[in-house]
Amino acid sequence: MNKKHTKLLAFDKNHVWHPYTSMSSPLPSYLVASAEGVHINLASGESLIDGMSSWWSVLHGYNHPKLNSALIEQSTKMSHVMFGGLTHQSAIDLCEKLIRLTPHGLDKVFLSDSGSVSVEVAMKMALQYWHSKQSENIAYKSKTKLLTVRNGYHGDTFAAMSVCDPVTGMHQIFEQVLMQSYFAPAPSIAFGQLWQAEETKALRQLFEQHHDELAAFIIEPIVQGTGGMRFYHPQYLKECRKLCDQYDVLLIVDEIATGFGRTGKLFACEWAEISPDIMCLGKTLTGGYITLAATLCTDDIANTISEGEAGCFMHGPTFMGNALACAVANASIDLLFENDWQQQVNTIEHQLTSLLMPLATHTRVKDTRVLGTIGAVECLQRVNVAHIQKRFVELGVWIRPFGKLIYIIPPLIINNEQLTTLVNAIATVLDEDDCFISNE
Ligand code: PMP
Repeated sequence: MNKKHTKLLAFDKNHVWHPYTSMSSPLPSYLVASAEGVHINLASGESLIDGMSSWWSVLHGYNHPKLNSALIEQSTKMSHVMFGGLTHQSAIDLCEKLIRLTPHGLDKVFLSDSGSVSVEVAMKMALQYWHSKQSENIAYKSKTKLLTVRNGYHGDTFAAMSVCDPVTGMHQIFEQVLMQSYFAPAPSIAFGQLWQAEETKALRQLFEQHHDELAAFIIEPIVQGTGGMRFYHPQYLKECRKLCDQYDVLLIVDEIATGFGRTGKLFACEWAEISPDIMCLGKTLTGGYITLAATLCTDDIANTISEGEAGCFMHGPTFMGNALACAVANASIDLLFENDWQQQVNTIEHQLTSLLMPLATHTRVKDTRVLGTIGAVECLQRVNVAHIQKRFVELGVWIRPFGKLIYIIPPLIINNEQLTTLVNAIATVLDEDDCFISNE
């Protein structure tokens, strides 16, 4: 580490806030010089195989020539213009693609800046929808609450936080200001297990008791990510759709993490063959290049809101429809099909299944699971993040575990040898006591 790097890191440690990190005793950060393909190159010289896709965002690898040129080409025309009163081809092309690729019935697109904001937008759409229908039926006035399941995660902004798991989402800190939502137990029948009708009993009761107050039900389809990499039975999602229809509640699916092939389907909703009323997309929408998100909804929702009291949807971020982001999103979606994403995902899933599933017999492991490009090892003890991270770097990989979970979600272009290195690194740290915090 040279002097310049040491100085940069010292400033970072003292002044730059990192995600979910203490400022007074921060976890170490590693200085990155560049990234290329599946490699993250540290300023200190190590080249690490990326197992995280930079939190599910990088799809085709770093520094991709086609994504780079899409950005450069767009920047020579314009990087951004306001979206109020102006529009452009990159945004129009992107919205056309999203409407064509997402489940049937999602025909209107609202572009925004980040996943959390797209969830705010989805919730606001649901609330404004019922507000706009009050003239039809005054009873709709009370449809102002959200129902969701425990173990969910939908973002860090306030409305999104109000539908995150109350325990891991630390609701007690913000309870005075959070919207009050209803919570059903988390889905408990895993993907691939036998379906049992009692699974949705508690959920049904909540619909029965509270439907008069419910504007929408929100859920991550098939995979509860931050809530523990829990893969649940598609029938659960089917039942959610039925309950929403039966009780006049809108269904919002948060495909921010699962969208664009990650679970083995282009969108996780497809496992249950359902269409939601509102869908949120983000993370890998731009192939991990720039932040961009989208909220799609049905014609009925868009038209009802537009014909309601306000006459428009009450939202409009400054960087809505950012041209650079839309251009790179178009290029990333094109690449998905050029590269045959289904084949890429199937290959990764196959390799992960044969390499990672056997770790289930390790004494430190509670469970291993694989779905699409997601591989998770649930341990019996919590990881020591700073130490395990250091060990992973020494082993030449970038894997960032949390809680009791060591998981990987590699870029689609990863090859067999690189994937083997990632899993071998996990197998290695499982044998090391220092990487875990004892349960006593
Ligand atoms: N929903 C889900 C399912 C997510 O995984 C995330 C991000 N981890 C978000 C919403 C929030 O997205 P962002 O971090 O872009 O605000």
